[in-house]
Amino acid sequence: MLILVTNDDGYRSEGITALAEAAKSLGDVVVVAPVDEASAIGHALTLKRPLRLESIRDGVYAVDGTPTDCVNIAVLWLLKDHPPDLVCSGINFGLNVGDDVTYSGTVSATFEGSLLDIPSIAFSQEVGEGFSFAASARMAARFVESVLSEPVPRDLLLNVNFPASTARGVRFTRLGKRVYRQSVVEKEDPRGRKYYWIAGTPEWREEDGTDCAAVAARQISITPLHLDLTYYRGLDAFAPLQATLAVAHDDNP
Ligand code: MN
Repeated sequence: MLILVTNDDGYRSEGITALAEAAKSLGDVVVVAPVDEASAIGHALTLKRPLRLESIRDGVYAVDGTPTDCVNIAVLWLLKDHPPDLVCSGINFGLNVGDDVTYSGTVSATFEGSLLDIPSIAFSQEVGEGFSFAASARMAARFVESVLSEPVPRDLLLNVNFPASTARGVRFTRLGKRVYRQSVVEKEDPRGRKYYWIAGTPEWREEDGTDCAAVAARQISITPLHLDLTYYRGLDAFAPLQATLAVAHDDNP
């Protein structure tokens, strides 16, 4: 069993160190993570400049790029003769729930693992009173162990969030909805030029069955994800429009 561990907080972060240590009880572990923090970088792939791969110590590598770059360099180069059986990303400093997953570098690393046909799991930790990466990492390892005891589907893609305080159970959830209160603040720099800062604390719609509701109830949230963004109900909803567009096309071929 070979486990690739990555994150978006950088290879030095406490969360990745704890996760990598805990994962060693399950198999061989290779860490390939960004040199610097790359939170909220999403699924970005670096194509316009070369990437440097630095060997930090035995089994730990740093890449001056994004989490997605790290997964590619690990799977398609570093471990190309023996691809990892699992990609674990995290443990992120802060939750990645609901609409966060579209910004999250932590979760995007697992998107990339999934695209490369490797089962992938993202772990994120709520930051608040009493939180502990060590405790969450132990739970993450137990979790991975139970997942791996079953035959794992190649398209396994899970997003796990740990509450800050001691968890009161585990719940499979769907993604929650953000109440959009993100604000843009305008200020002036010392040279009189305006600059803008995107700020605001996310708030969530309180809906049962969601990841944010589970974490608020101090449960470990597990959301199964998939990369097919197709809006299936839309296929039916747009059928009349398809007919209209077909006529318009026939009139103007
Ligand atoms: Mn992060």
